[in-house]
Amino acid sequence: MIKTIKYGLLALSVVVSVNALAQFTPKDSRVPGGVAVIELPQRGDSPPHVFFQKKRVYTAKQEGRWFAWVGLPLSLKPGSYQAFWKTKEGNKPFAIQVKGKKYEEQRLTVKKKHVNPDPEQLARIRKETPIIRGGMDTFRPVVYALPEKLVQPTQGRISSSFGLRRVFNGQPRRPHSGMDIAAPTGTPVLSALNGKVVAIGDYYFNGKTVIVDHGQGLTTLYCHLSRTEDLKVGDKVSAGQQLGDVGATGRVTGPHLHWTVTLNGARVDPALFLN
Ligand SMILES: [Zn+2]
Repeated sequence: MIKTIKYGLLALSVVVSVNALAQFTPKDSRVPGGVAVIELPQRGDSPPHVFFQKKRVYTAKQEGRWFAWVGLPLSLKPGSYQAFWKTKEGNKPFAIQVKGKKYEEQRLTVKKKHVNPDPEQLARIRKETPIIRGGMDTFRPVVYALPEKLVQPTQGRISSSFGLRRVFNGQPRRPHSGMDIAAPTGTPVLSALNGKVVAIGDYYFNGKTVIVDHGQGLTTLYCHLSRTEDLKVGDKVSAGQQLGDVGATGRVTGPHLHWTVTLNGARVDPALFLN
């Protein structure tokens, strides 16, 4: 009799957890620039080894179950893709169906300005690019606790969404790799999740920038800041901890936060991480 009741409760708790995990999880969206959230039938404490396009994938343990958060690059064409879960018995492939998504296009006619950096600036850009890419695109096998909710990094109006295809004077530029949140200079900028500072500096394009590593290839970048907190590479930060203030440093037209979220080297839509 007691046994029956126990099993009944167990079944109930499983049903509840499917609908509402107590920890943060991004929205599943299998489109270019989206995230595929896939449950893995693995138990135990050590993170599963999952690979997508030769890159190791973030995995989260939530209520005893493991989930892979596969970042889908914006450049993916719609179709079927394979990810691999490495087990003792060998690689287990699983398919991810990626649907098409048409991101908005913005056509702008701008005055022909000096957009070509001079040799000194080019040398600076060449030095900074590997620091920024290395901060965002490296898999570090560290596991941080996930909070119940991700912290929106600043309060303001979303002025430019992820994936926006920008065409200047008929010339296509790279699509927007993050989300812009417009806010007055001096508005606090907070770390979205727990992690560690992997890059902090004042860069040519991004201006004053902080990159936080949340472990296993999940990183967030905060740029165009007016100032950064007294932090250095290697410092731990917690979700909601202030990283700096909104500003207009680097190549910008007005004060806003540009926020980039990266999973397994793919820039993904930050909107999937809010709410
Ligand atoms: Zn931006």
